Amino acid sequence: MNRMLVWLRNDLRLADNPLFHFSTPPESLLCLYVLDEAWLTPLPGLGASRIGPARLQFLWQSLIALRGELLKRGSDLLVRLGDPVEVVAELVVEHHIDEVRVRADAGWEEKQATVQLAERLGGAVTLSRQDTGTLLDEAALPMAVDDLPASFSAFRRRVERAWSVPGAVPAPVTLPDWPAGAPRGFPPLDKVCGRAAAWAPDRRGGFAFAGGETAGWSRLDHYLWESGAVARYKQTRNGLAGADFSTRLSPWLSQGCLSARQVHDAVNAWETRHGANDSSYWLVVELLWRDYFHWAARQEGAALFGGRELPTPDADVSAWCEGRTGVPFVDAAMRELATTGWLSNRARQNAASFLLRDLGGDWRLGAAWFEHCLVDHDVASNWGNWRYLAGVGRSTRPRALDVHDQAGRYDPDGSYAVLWAPAVAAHGEEP
Ligand SMILES: Cc1cc2nc3c(=O)[nH]c(=O)nc-3n(C[C@H](O)[C@H](O)[C@H](O)COP(=O)(O)OP(=O)(O)OC[C@H]3O[C@@H](n4cnc5c(N)ncnc54)[C@H](O)[C@@H]3O)c2cc1C
Repeated sequence: MNRMLVWLRNDLRLADNPLFHFSTPPESLLCLYVLDEAWLTPLPGLGASRIGPARLQFLWQSLIALRGELLKRGSDLLVRLGDPVEVVAELVVEHHIDEVRVRADAGWEEKQATVQLAERLGGAVTLSRQDTGTLLDEAALPMAVDDLPASFSAFRRRVERAWSVPGAVPAPVTLPDWPAGAPRGFPPLDKVCGRAAAWAPDRRGGFAFAGGETAGWSRLDHYLWESGAVARYKQTRNGLAGADFSTRLSPWLSQGCLSARQVHDAVNAWETRHGANDSSYWLVVELLWRDYFHWAARQEGAALFGGRELPTPDADVSAWCEGRTGVPFVDAAMRELATTGWLSNRARQNAASFLLRDLGGDWRLGAAWFEHCLVDHDVASNWGNWRYLAGVGRSTRPRALDVHDQAGRYDPDGSYAVLWAPAVAAHGEEP
């Protein structure tokens, strides 16, 4: 019997979360989430915080939903604002914790935080890092993470030769007692960030995300079973506007309200009923992209960020952030991003390409701006995709697209540009 603390990060769910599975349940369990206060501080130069209002609101909704699920099972949740290592270390001492469990996140800072915590705790407290949220665990990869192929295609070929994605594990029915005297609950969002509490996405996005496991399942059910949109995914996934051209599962996957294995199981169930097709298969390929960026981030460590000191944006980069470049397709994307927190993959690629290829901007500024805006920010996917397009790191072939050509191909009637940047679309610039 021991006293355990589960330190939650990007795994805000009970089902298919190994942090909540015990061969022998501990005597008590403290469930903790720490919002790193550094994420709220504006980055020098860019002037935007690491976490913007869209994601912060989604995060709080996810935490509220998770607390409800924990309470139903006899447990609870504590949410603190501060330096995560300090907060965890203090709680360990105050409540005589002898084991801390945490997800093995892809991010370098998250890994460093775990290393620092291990040093602070010394040998008396067990600190276990667990793989969770990816299709495959590290041990099931057909190569060592250090030998990850430079291209996704090579990775996919090796994985698909013989792979078996484990099924998702159900949520525990009950959980161990909350430690006597331990604090519970969390600060209201308006006290943490008024802008996040008041955040409301622009309705032109045609979709409102809500955090939490139940909301994630409801979106997954809609995409597979209610609308059947998955049957056409491969043909529609390059869409720009509308609710169902792609799954829109990214915010739930990023915060860990859903795991990739849960989505994989659901796609398998759909295929059993309706038959597998190119589209259902392609959705799994996209989840494998996500896995690839996860392992690539683990391999690259601090190099993922290309040196952390960001340059100060010049006037062109500032205009790009604000959707004032004068190019309708790009401005539409940047305005959708800023006012909804989300963007289709096609629009992400084009917005990024314009910064890289047409403006010669620093890819790190683009990635940092996306990090601020995105409701679905995932350190490995965002920084990894930016590096991939910029041709930095593992693959040195720049892949930035010609956005004028792309606009003709994917927005031939200009309706996407008109939706988000009508004046630019009409006059080529703001009146
Ligand atoms: C510059 C740039 C930045 C990006 N930043 C992020 C990010 O911060 N967070 C994020 O989740 N995705 C990011 N992506 C990947 C991709 O654009 C989004 O995952 C996708 O648009 C989300 O919409 P969806 O859930 O409808 O995706 P779907 O097309 O329905 O795909 C299903 C799931 O597969 C995964 N996926 C799909 N494409 C990719 C990809 N290229 N890389 C990694 N995972 C993928 C996502 O988890 C997604 O939810 C980025 C792409 C680019 C080009």
